[in-house]
Amino acid sequence: MAVENIPKATAKRLPIYYRYLNILHDAGKNRISSTELADAVQVDSATIRRDFSYFGALGKRGYGYDVDNLLNFFKQILNQERLTSVALVGVGNLGHALLNFNFHKDSNVRISAAFDIDENIVNTIQDGVPVYPMDELGQQLEDQQIKVVILTVPSVEAQKVTDDAVAGGVQGILNFTPIRLSVPDKVRVQNVDLTNELQTLIYFIDNYS
Ligand code: NAD
Repeated sequence: MAVENIPKATAKRLPIYYRYLNILHDAGKNRISSTELADAVQVDSATIRRDFSYFGALGKRGYGYDVDNLLNFFKQILNQERLTSVALVGVGNLGHALLNFNFHKDSNVRISAAFDIDENIVNTIQDGVPVYPMDELGQQLEDQQIKVVILTVPSVEAQKVTDDAVAGGVQGILNFTPIRLSVPDKVRVQNVDLTNELQTLIYFIDNYS
């Protein structure tokens, strides 16, 4: 089944499975049962079996799952064999933290270009990543075949920067700003809001503990 056709909730869990299978592989483990996997990734085993069933019968009763088989399978489906370059716009407090964080260690993603308007950092290397001026956004996205942009600019700048990134051909935006961006249908936006996550956590602790 093509990855576009699997349910969104399943697609979201694939990187979690993938990361854990890599750990098992590095530890020299050859097989794992869905119950063991469930404990490790905190997803119930029925869900795991259903998720895996979208890709055909990958496990054998009484044997569990072959770690290398699964790993190869996920590698293909998640495109892990190809390094994906993404860009970051807005090298401030949050931008720096994300540049510093080495995505590439645990995934096939790396931030290969950053953009800002601040004369003090434009045309410098920050945390190992070159920072370009905004007027080079379109050209760099094209040259480096970047399809995803991480947005960490002040909220008042968010829509304008988004419009420029969309004009430059991006297909996905990881939006850290509190603004709900307006984009064409073909562009996907993933919003990240740490305050929201924290409040949800506190709500669950207050109400269900
Ligand atoms: P910051 O002021 O430290 O950094 C913003 C950077 O963007 C600066 O380097 C600035 O020069 C640059 N910039 C400004 N206008 C620009 C433009 N038009 N084009 C390119 N670069 C531009 O801000 P911060 O604390 O890093 O926060 C950045 C954004 O992230 C804000 O929108 C903030 O609300 C948001 N934020 C979100 C979360 C979250 O949980 N989602 C957490 C913290 C901050």
